[in-house]
Amino acid sequence: MSGRNNIVIIGGTACGPKAAARARRCDPHARITIVEQSSNLSTATCGLPYYVSGLIENEGDLVARAPGYYQEVMDLQVHPCTRAVAINRADHAVSLLDLISGSASTLEYDKLVVATGSKPAMPDLPGSSLQGIFTFTRIKDANGIREMIRERQIRKAVIVGAGLIGLEMAEALAARGLEVTILEALDRALPKLLDPEIAAYLEKHLRDKGVRLLAGQPVMAFEGNQWVHEVVSRDARLEADLVVMALGAKPNVGLARECGLALGSTGGVAVNEHLLTNDLDIYAGGDCVENVNRVSGKAVLAPLGSTANKHGRVIGTNVTGGSETFPGVLGTAIAKVFDCNVGRVGLSESEARHAGFEVVACLVPGYEYATYYPNGQEILVKLVAEKATNRLLGGQVIGPGETAKRIDVLATALSFGATVDDLAGLDLAYAPPYNSALDPLHNAANLIRNKRDGYAKTLTPMDVKDRVDRGDDFVWLDVRSPGEWDNAHIDVPQGRLMPLRELRTKLDSIPRDAEILVSCQTSVRAYQAQRILDGAGFRNVRFMEASLVGWPYAMSGTRPVSSDEVARLMAIAP
Ligand SMILES: Cc1cc2nc3c(=O)[nH]c(=O)nc-3n(C[C@H](O)[C@H](O)[C@H](O)COP(=O)(O)OP(=O)(O)OC[C@H]3O[C@@H](n4cnc5c(N)ncnc54)[C@H](O)[C@@H]3O)c2cc1C
Repeated sequence: MSGRNNIVIIGGTACGPKAAARARRCDPHARITIVEQSSNLSTATCGLPYYVSGLIENEGDLVARAPGYYQEVMDLQVHPCTRAVAINRADHAVSLLDLISGSASTLEYDKLVVATGSKPAMPDLPGSSLQGIFTFTRIKDANGIREMIRERQIRKAVIVGAGLIGLEMAEALAARGLEVTILEALDRALPKLLDPEIAAYLEKHLRDKGVRLLAGQPVMAFEGNQWVHEVVSRDARLEADLVVMALGAKPNVGLARECGLALGSTGGVAVNEHLLTNDLDIYAGGDCVENVNRVSGKAVLAPLGSTANKHGRVIGTNVTGGSETFPGVLGTAIAKVFDCNVGRVGLSESEARHAGFEVVACLVPGYEYATYYPNGQEILVKLVAEKATNRLLGGQVIGPGETAKRIDVLATALSFGATVDDLAGLDLAYAPPYNSALDPLHNAANLIRNKRDGYAKTLTPMDVKDRVDRGDDFVWLDVRSPGEWDNAHIDVPQGRLMPLRELRTKLDSIPRDAEILVSCQTSVRAYQAQRILDGAGFRNVRFMEASLVGWPYAMSGTRPVSSDEVARLMAIAP
């Protein structure tokens, strides 16, 4: 082996194989070995929910590369079904256990890569060893669930955890005809990713799809006789034939910790910007390491395939003598939940406040195409910026329309430290089948600028709901048409129909000293009304951001407003 760089990689799913492939391209002569405890490398874990739903029918479609490919094409040594059981840093050696034969061996390295990923969180609760309870990270879990659906007459599923995986699994199991309930310990769907307004939109969508979400319900126990039959949470007792535990991922750092590699405050392996650990010959990447959030500067875990692959490339360069750096993460994430696409990037408003920023935020509905172009769908954008500097801090986008490109634009803007003014001026592509002349992100940036410059004065739907619930004294003008009101309206004592076209002629009927709230369908007309009232000398006028599109609570009326109608009503930008 003399003269050849001897690289050993532990972990063969995302980060490990990416590091190996990059290392091979950088150094055609290195000896590169991947050690993986399961039988396959490069399994597309992210596709597992679609394999359960049946959208992806064959298990083999989820295996990007068979071990043979790595050997024949990439000239890599692959040890599948082999567990690394110890790292001996002094001797530069890894102890291996062959999981089929039971034999032990040792592998020496010049450079070692720890890419051991994460483990699903699984609390030790009464009854948690009953059959029919699954964590969900491996193809084996997906096959177990598919088999139960096929072989047993199961009807009811309980998912524990309303995170990304829990929600994707809700759709997958509903697609298999199961009645799905989600238990979430915190107060909302995607509680660590979304602010309450966006989570409420998502929760309404789940209700529309027949999925029950019980928030504030930590699971306490499972009951049954051999097979799970009931899930007990703080205040509920739910029948369940199948339980999916989707409580998040914990960095798998046992090997790293035992050999003395430093861990960070989040529990992930501590690495520098080169993804080097506290041992100059050991790199680490993927779910098992701690990252830096580029907006807050704080240490975070980022257990995502997107991050793991980027880590792998940086490591592959660096183990072969290069000097690449990883810039940190933005917390970008996206998921499809039935007909709703939900994404986020940067800091949520709650995270930003918690990190000590003084923030300004806004909620703006939009439409994926030009409003007159057929079959487009609505989206709802939340933007968060730093008040003092106008620097963007984060964004969330949800709806049946195209959210991914908006999240990616925001990710790009955040990467380059853009302000809301930069975002408002971005030269984004426009033709009617793709967008409006002003993208919903432009409109959101402009609303923050309008608020900053004193033109727009607003309340969020949640602020308004709080005021209604408190019985506050104010006048609420709905400036839509009578027909729209009949279709759907918010039934509150403060409410009054005042179509925008009549507003200028009916100013005398509005009490001048009252606090006035204005709403419409999308907030476009409500903002216009606010400016008319401001101009007429009314001193205390605000409009409800996102208006009825952003109102996740009950409404009265004869029928909901369709997406096409929302599009028509959005024809004027705020
Ligand atoms: C259901 C699901 C859906 C997901 N969807 C998305 C998505 O849409 N987008 C996204 O960005 N991310 C998604 N993720 C997350 C993504 O799959 C992970 O972030 C990614 O797989 C992490 O890659 P990794 O290589 O760091 O770790 P892992 O994928 O966990 O791989 C680590 C590997 O190391 C092996 N290993 C561990 N210890 C040892 C040892 N001692 N010896 C030998 N081998 C060992 C393990 O067997 C495993 O194969 C999803 C995850 C799940 C579970």
